Amino acid sequence: MKEEEIKGIWELLATPKKIAIIPHRSPDGDAMGSTLGLYHFLKKLNHEAIVIAPNEFPEFLAWLPGSEKVLIFEKDKENVAKVLQGAEVIFTLDFNALHRTGEMENVLNKLTAPFIMIDHHQKPDDYAAFTYSNTKFGSTCEMVYNFITYLEKKELLDETIASCLYTGIVTDSGSFRFPTTTSETHRVAAALLDLGARNGDIHNSLFDNNSYHRLQLLGRALQNMKVFPEFKTSYIRLTQQELDEFKYVKGDTEGIVNYGLTIKGIIFAAIFIENKEEGIVKISFRSQGNFDVNQFARQYFNGGGHINAAGGKSNKSLDETIKDFESILSQQNFNV
Ligand code: 5GP
Ligand code: MN
Repeated sequence: MKEEEIKGIWELLATPKKIAIIPHRSPDGDAMGSTLGLYHFLKKLNHEAIVIAPNEFPEFLAWLPGSEKVLIFEKDKENVAKVLQGAEVIFTLDFNALHRTGEMENVLNKLTAPFIMIDHHQKPDDYAAFTYSNTKFGSTCEMVYNFITYLEKKELLDETIASCLYTGIVTDSGSFRFPTTTSETHRVAAALLDLGARNGDIHNSLFDNNSYHRLQLLGRALQNMKVFPEFKTSYIRLTQQELDEFKYVKGDTEGIVNYGLTIKGIIFAAIFIENKEEGIVKISFRSQGNFDVNQFARQYFNGGGHINAAGGKSNKSLDETIKDFESILSQQNFNV
């Protein structure tokens, strides 16, 4: 961040303010970890902070400190809109365009309070008074740690903030294995452990909390996998009926897409999940190496993300969406 930006942010934060902190819709570990980490930090600076999520966060993140105070816009639109309208500063974390908040975008578009964006996705929109955006970072949580460092307030970091930030670093880096994991990521993680974040407990809370049904759903997803060795591609489909059969709850399909990449020779994996309630097919893409799934998701499936992890959606039926996908495959260059 540039010095004058830090100065500008300091001017905004110099006196106690009402501050809303917003993650993207269907928030993941990084979105919730970064917003809650920042929330605890801002409270220590005597601000009246609140995290407002566009919709419900998954159960496997409900242990995060402060998550019980999070407001859910889609559960109580009118009242939450009022809280947003009363905010004097708005932080948007872990997304690059207001439409990533779904219907909440309509409320956000009308606000006059200054926005501060902290994010690591490509092509940030230009809505914020201050934009701290850098795709080099593996997680927004690592950036929030840097943000606090830039403000020269590291002395306010504590075990609670550290646990939130550590969570997003772990989840967005695939437990420190994705290529965006740098030596600096490990230095930040080490500092968070020194502050009291409990590595083993956090991993257990995130990854060892499966329900029996979730594992059965995973089993079905793996059985549904199709592999195209000639395109170095695999994909998984899940129908709404299958989700219902295994008593799907939010978060149950998280991470399933990655199994496609664990097959030898596969560099591109997708999962197509039917969502009858929203009338869409939600899609996740993952890749290894230089095959750019952000570009792919933008071009064909109304989405975006990062080079190796992106998402999108389709308004067509599940079968039609997959038919489109299969026909697009032959137009791709997988020798990148
Ligand atoms: P996931 O597949 O885990 O939902 O998301 C992978 C990455 O792509 C995340 O960084 C997420 O923010 C981004 N992403 C997921 N869905 C969408 C989408 O519909 N639009 C855009 N622009 N990005 C998405
Ligand atoms: Mn993220």
